[in-house]
Amino acid sequence: MSAQQMRDLRQRRYAARVLIDGRLVSPHGRHGTDATYTNYGCRCVLCTEAVRLYQRGQRARRVRNALNRERRRIAGQLTASS
Ligand SMILES: [Zn+2]
Repeated sequence: MSAQQMRDLRQRRYAARVLIDGRLVSPHGRHGTDATYTNYGCRCVLCTEAVRLYQRGQRARRVRNALNRERRRIAGQLTASS
């Protein structure tokens, strides 16, 4: 599927959303997943919470990776100076 087709598909999915309790909710997709939030534009409580948790996990991974890089950098300097 081309990038343009992907955009058209997302456009149709977003357009199909229904307003429920002030939130745009997709009639499709599995609720409570970041994929439905992203691909279907669902903003129900479950999907919004799922994407929040996903982003929190992403941030935790970024921090952990930065810590590991720093740990390796320091370890490298320790072995170089001994
Ligand atoms: Zn949802």
